[in-house]
Amino acid sequence: MELWQQMIRDSVHSVDQLVEKFGLDRKVAEDLDEFFQARINPYYMSLIRYPGDPIWLQCVPHKAELEDMDAEEDPLMEDAMSPVPNITHRYPDRALFLVTSQCGLYCRFCTRKRKVGDYEKISMKGLESAFNYLEEHKEIRDVILSGGDPLMLTDTMLEKILKRLREIPHIEIIRIGSKMPCVLPQRITQSLCNMLKKYHPIYLNTHFNHPWEITPESSKACEMLADAGIPVGNQMVLMKGVNDDPAVVKELMQKLLRIRVRPYYMYMADETKGANHFRTSIETGLNIVENLRGHTSGLAIPHFVIDAPGGGGKIPILPNYVLHYDEDRIILRNYENKIYAYRNYKDKNNPARPAAKKEKAVSNGRNGKSKVKVLGEDKIELPVLEEVEV
Ligand code: SF4
Repeated sequence: MELWQQMIRDSVHSVDQLVEKFGLDRKVAEDLDEFFQARINPYYMSLIRYPGDPIWLQCVPHKAELEDMDAEEDPLMEDAMSPVPNITHRYPDRALFLVTSQCGLYCRFCTRKRKVGDYEKISMKGLESAFNYLEEHKEIRDVILSGGDPLMLTDTMLEKILKRLREIPHIEIIRIGSKMPCVLPQRITQSLCNMLKKYHPIYLNTHFNHPWEITPESSKACEMLADAGIPVGNQMVLMKGVNDDPAVVKELMQKLLRIRVRPYYMYMADETKGANHFRTSIETGLNIVENLRGHTSGLAIPHFVIDAPGGGGKIPILPNYVLHYDEDRIILRNYENKIYAYRNYKDKNNPARPAAKKEKAVSNGRNGKSKVKVLGEDKIELPVLEEVEV
């Protein structure tokens, strides 16, 4: 048995352990166990510094989970968009392929807790029909292995899946969604990396939510993956008490870049059953992006998205940097709230280009006396903002 497998075995999971280690009321612990089982492996538990800290909140069951029973079990409608077991096909050219129900840690905010941990709900029996679907659907060029966590499979089992996918000519890209580099970095072994790099192009998206998760062990895991030629991206979920603070997010993003992980997405928490206590306001997220853009490298800035309830997919949201836009120009504010205009390009060969839709300007807290500067023509003064038609 490998070290990481032993650590899964040694995880805190029973009601007795929850009562003893975290002081949960027994009845609450039993109800929580029924709702969504616990799994806290010894590595991740060692990152807890004090009760209720950002690591604790992510893994220790909390009675607030039981107070939120009205939210959806499947807010992203993954099951409704599942043509065959184990596959969700939402976007035209890519598909989600669930290959295991198991994870190295059971995250209390998980949006797939209706399936996670249940061998019946993500069954290996569905793999053959999933492969058949992927073979038949030639428009699918990108497959995302998920679960559960695909790196809970043994190297041998994972290799069988990768090999089979690589036999399908139209599948160009394989992505692996895995929280293991963060929650159980001992899983990233040299033999795993050696196996994965036979099946390039492979991308891996992982899931760090707090700077305390960047440790010597997780850094080594991410660097091993990068050394194997696997680009590693990070998907962070914005959560109350965990990372709803611009300084925390900035520190996390900067530290991720240092271990060769590219910040990819920052999600608003899904409206998932049992996770309402993690949700933050949209303004909190926008404020975090405001405090990143211009204040640190663009490489450190993830796309801020809402995974739209009802299966609408990921929709990007941004602070409002566009104050006005028409067919002649766009008026923008930068991260210091300075205002700039950029003239639209007029295509003489295509004079019929439709005029841009006029947008309503949004106040940025400045008065209308601001001078507008035209990019590339520093000395020319354009009308003050109050003369701009909005
Ligand atoms: S690792 Fe992912 S799928 Fe597993 S419990 Fe955590 S969020 Fe859910």
